[in-house]
Amino acid sequence: MIKYLVTRKKLEELIEAEKPGWLKRAADRTEQFRASGSFDEASSIWSEVKPVYMRLQGQGKCAFCEREMESVKFGKAEQDVEHFRPKGRLTAWKVPKKLKNAGIPFAAISAGTKGYHLLPYHPFNYSVACKPCNSALKKDQFPIAGTYDLSADDPANLVQERAYLIYPIGPLDTDPETLIEFRGTSPKPVTKAGHDRNRALVTIEFFKLDDPDRANLYRDRALIILGLFPLLQETTRGTAIQKAKAQATVNDFLTPRLRHLNCARSFRRLFDSEPDEAKKIYDAAINLLITKS
Ligand SMILES: [Zn+2]
Repeated sequence: MIKYLVTRKKLEELIEAEKPGWLKRAADRTEQFRASGSFDEASSIWSEVKPVYMRLQGQGKCAFCEREMESVKFGKAEQDVEHFRPKGRLTAWKVPKKLKNAGIPFAAISAGTKGYHLLPYHPFNYSVACKPCNSALKKDQFPIAGTYDLSADDPANLVQERAYLIYPIGPLDTDPETLIEFRGTSPKPVTKAGHDRNRALVTIEFFKLDDPDRANLYRDRALIILGLFPLLQETTRGTAIQKAKAQATVNDFLTPRLRHLNCARSFRRLFDSEPDEAKKIYDAAINLLITKS
């Protein structure tokens, strides 16, 4: 995961430019939910602003697994507008044994719990995600460490929930790259202890970011490493001008549009600090593609 920085004001401008009048219609719907006390509507309008989030996220990278999908013109069908906090109902995540054994605490959810009925149309409750991350894995689940506040109408006021999943759009949440980094093709927590470490462990487990059942993620990250390694080697060779030119090429390669950018940036840092380790990971990436593809 990486962060996609945008202010609330700028995001609303982008939404208004994409679909004039949408924000007002969305606000009217939220007021209906407030009056009735629950999320209930015959048809939704959030898909109308899907292109805004696709463009923000590098033209259509999944917010959670960083897979690249088709761009706005042809890609809408393969991407979901993902509600970070579930809108209709909340279901409990089946916590894997290894997280239970690690003593990570989870707030309980009773059966029949409704969702965040005032957030279905909040601009900072959306991202675009691939169908495996949103429909197969996230569904109506939202594990937290603190106390649920299902009547909130602004995600900015929900810090006390101590959410485990990371929201990547805008300034509200921590930069995902300060929580999760990569060693080769595998994601790891950045911090050694505490809630930040738990957030990383839960997010990695929740979206199966380090799981053989999503082997395509390893292969795709390996391809990025294969492309990046020779460029990084060039930054160590020749004159100062040649090195600077090579660094500029690396910077261009690591554009926010690049899939698996967190993995790529982690690999660059490793190359700079431990070049011999980076070479081993490059060799492992080749091996992974040869033996498992
Ligand atoms: Zn995904």
